[in-house]
Amino acid sequence: MRLSKYFWQTYKETPADAEIASHKLLMRTGMIHKIGAGLYSYLPMGVRVIRKIENIIREELNNIDSNELTMNFVTPAQLWKDSGRWDQMGSEMQRFSDQKDNEYCLSPTNEETITDIFRKSVNSYKQLPVSLYQITTKYRNEIRPRYGLMRGKEFSMKDAYTFSLDKACMDEQYEYFYKAYSNIFKRMNLDFIIVEADGGNIASGDSQTHEFQVLAQSGEDVVVFSKESGYAANIEKANTKRAELAFLPEEAISEVETKNLPTCEEVAKLLNLPIHQTLKTLVFSAFWGEKSANYMIMLLGDDELNEVKLKNFLKADRIEVAKESVLKEIGAIAGYMSPYKLEGKYSVLLDASIDPTKSYIVGANKEHFHLKGFTPKRDIENYKSADLRMAKEGDLDPSGKVVSFAKGIEVGHIFQLGDKYSKAMGATVLDQNGKKIAPLMGCYGIGVTRTLAAAIEQCHDDDGIIWPYPIAPFQIHIAAMYKDPEFKKECDALYDKLTKEGYEVLYDDRGLGMGAMMKDADLLGLPIRVFIGERDFKNSGEVEIKVRKTGEKTKCSLTDLTANLTKIVESLS
Ligand code: ATP
Ligand code: MG
Repeated sequence: MRLSKYFWQTYKETPADAEIASHKLLMRTGMIHKIGAGLYSYLPMGVRVIRKIENIIREELNNIDSNELTMNFVTPAQLWKDSGRWDQMGSEMQRFSDQKDNEYCLSPTNEETITDIFRKSVNSYKQLPVSLYQITTKYRNEIRPRYGLMRGKEFSMKDAYTFSLDKACMDEQYEYFYKAYSNIFKRMNLDFIIVEADGGNIASGDSQTHEFQVLAQSGEDVVVFSKESGYAANIEKANTKRAELAFLPEEAISEVETKNLPTCEEVAKLLNLPIHQTLKTLVFSAFWGEKSANYMIMLLGDDELNEVKLKNFLKADRIEVAKESVLKEIGAIAGYMSPYKLEGKYSVLLDASIDPTKSYIVGANKEHFHLKGFTPKRDIENYKSADLRMAKEGDLDPSGKVVSFAKGIEVGHIFQLGDKYSKAMGATVLDQNGKKIAPLMGCYGIGVTRTLAAAIEQCHDDDGIIWPYPIAPFQIHIAAMYKDPEFKKECDALYDKLTKEGYEVLYDDRGLGMGAMMKDADLLGLPIRVFIGERDFKNSGEVEIKVRKTGEKTKCSLTDLTANLTKIVESLS
């Protein structure tokens, strides 16, 4: 592509709302254009990368016999009513009506449509398994669209769905996607980790779900892993344990004055005890439809509550920090509370790392006082123990290895749905015995535009992007420095030569000054730059090759260029 004929332009200024590198660089390299919060047009340079990402995805999914289709951006409300999700989905789903008051939504995902297609076209186990995918625009009214393409309102997603006769077949399909996803992100040369994810309470307890996380400092997710054991989980899900702790042996209850010392840290310091010998109590309200209940949750003093675990444990639709009125009702006093001899209506949950036979320091339900000797097994009547804490650095994984933490960007998510949608929407097939069964589903997403942002997030430096070779918009950037129109013909010939050799070449033939041209080349960050300068070339017959990733420069004649490029490409791809 000759830049003189290409719609492309770079920008010096960073947009005011751009906080992270990928957002800044996508804007500065003229790959995207903002038209509103979370709404971006993809410009020609951006589209080239998106197509490459899509093609890698297509090839790998076609390899596992998944079939491409295209479902609708607009879905009638009825399908969502059939699945029961019309009322469950929050404001993220954009609903609207036409002039005849028919209701619709802008598809945030497509379980409903795919299940409708399935129920109207498949009726025998002989047609199973079914595996379908699409790469389309999705719309979600994200409350806080941010970070450019990372969290948009309108974005491109690959979503795939499988239907299987039984659990073994659902597992097999899941395995296919797991492997295909691994290949996809490997082929993009991205540094990623596959983690166990939180499945919420969508499917049954033993259903699998994994996230594919691209590692990057700006990631919104925290991943917990051990290289030694291979353990890896999203922090929302991580079931790591604390290393061995020494607790206080059971002792009688006694009051201690802790004037203006409401936190566990302060109390532990005052009593000269390790903080894990204190317990913190939190009060939460949980909701199931119209029903609700209150919980006093106890954690070791230096642990934090993992709200996702709490919500899942209670199988609640929603949980929230208890309101002031609830605390009053229970008789709890913020900073000094515990479930010790409280009258109100609540249930007690202990985090699993608390040994209920040991003694702890807890709030006395009286301002400026705590209790020593609180022993759950002896001092509270009913409680349940569950893993409710947030994993921490220094924890041990289930095999006893110390875990590390890293930041990740969720680019893909695979999920076993079981019969949730097939059952709700009456999608059935006849099995080998002529019995009607609801097939088991899986769903599998990749954020296409988020992957573009994540790649830049992982691969850039102060000067600009450093494209991974397989998804670079072009592979070679020819920077041509010329004055003499006759010499320009040499540059054109170089462009023709490399293009004929099969490279995707961006040819800067705009006649810019050296500084501006090189700045643009570094900013855009194509893997290889070939510089052809009038003076040097006329003197020595040589061009200069620069590898963007390493900064390494070499000079060579046109005759040696092909061999040199082949070597460099091998090292990059
Ligand atoms: P998140 O937790 O980041 O909101 P999600 O759980 O809502 O993601 P899914 O419904 O599993 O995401 O969607 C599949 C994939 O689509 C995600 O793994 C992510 O890569 C991408 N994705 C989701 N929401 C957005 C968004 N607002 N903008 C860009 N990509 C998104
Ligand atoms: Mg989301």
